[in-house]
Amino acid sequence: MGLLDIVPAGVLTGDNVRKLFDYAKENKVCIPAINVTSTSTANAVLEAARDIKSPIILQVSQGGSAYFAGKGLSNDKQKASIVGAVAAAHHVRLVAKAYGVPVVMHSDHCAKKLLEWFDGMLEADEAYYKQHGEPLFSSHMLDLSEESKEENIEICVKYFKRMAPIGLWLEMEIGITGGEEDGVDNTGVDNASLYTQAPDVFDVHKALSAIGPNFSIAAAFGNVHGVYKPGNVKLHPELLQKHQEHASQQLGGKVEKPLYLVFHGGSGSTKQEINTAVSNGVVKMNVDTDTQFAYLVGIRDFIEKKKGYLQTQVGNPEGADKPNKKYYDPRVWVREGEKTLAERVKEACRDLGNVERL
Ligand SMILES: [Zn+2]
Repeated sequence: MGLLDIVPAGVLTGDNVRKLFDYAKENKVCIPAINVTSTSTANAVLEAARDIKSPIILQVSQGGSAYFAGKGLSNDKQKASIVGAVAAAHHVRLVAKAYGVPVVMHSDHCAKKLLEWFDGMLEADEAYYKQHGEPLFSSHMLDLSEESKEENIEICVKYFKRMAPIGLWLEMEIGITGGEEDGVDNTGVDNASLYTQAPDVFDVHKALSAIGPNFSIAAAFGNVHGVYKPGNVKLHPELLQKHQEHASQQLGGKVEKPLYLVFHGGSGSTKQEINTAVSNGVVKMNVDTDTQFAYLVGIRDFIEKKKGYLQTQVGNPEGADKPNKKYYDPRVWVREGEKTLAERVKEACRDLGNVERL
């Protein structure tokens, strides 16, 4: 049975998101979540998913959302991040159906100091729900991992009570993922907190499952955001099996892997590490650093190769009167970045077994 027999094409919401992740868990597939910052990057990611015949997750970060609306716009009170995220979601909703693939439209890490952004997106979801009976986004991520476990869970519960009734998935983070992203710098954190403990993961599960089933947990297992020398932090995806076993025991042993787990900071990890994570119920893996670089590569190579055609509007190595319009048109050089980005997304899909799934 193909995935399109289970969920429709286009942006998924409500139980369809869970059906997608159940499919992923059962088939040991992990769906890459690619950060997008523009219609160009979003379209390239959708194109890759269509070509490789598989579902995909598109996500916007707080900074990426502001960029989506335009860097010239003030982000006072998160206004640009809110309008940019909403614009991205509307765009993806419109075009995803045309690409014919199931899509999860997600918002990335939101720390406590950025909750105004989260509130703004939720308001847009609620307004959309009133009109269409489903939220604008598929899911949102709350990252209160910097706070105490108690406060982390308390804030997640508060928001999930608002999200679950309108069909929104919640992704939360517990334990600290090293590295830096969107202004949260964890490079100096001690090693013990880089590995989340199984009872803590179950505390999250217990609190959230009382509200609804549609949530996932990003537990730290030595992951590091971004690619740089990891030092003595080592990835231990086998720890995730302990989380599943502990949760399964606590729930009476009926379900083998009750948790939907998420892999943050996966750039630069080995195939073996990825396989271990996926076989332990990791259904989503964030990919940002590698696809950022991939988008540059196509543009960089084009500019280098066509240098003589890009210095003036008219006049190139073939003649002083030759026009260069077909080289400097953004549809030509930006397109080169889209192609290399799409190739890198396909590579991520292949690494995660997310191929020929429709
Ligand atoms: Zn994270």
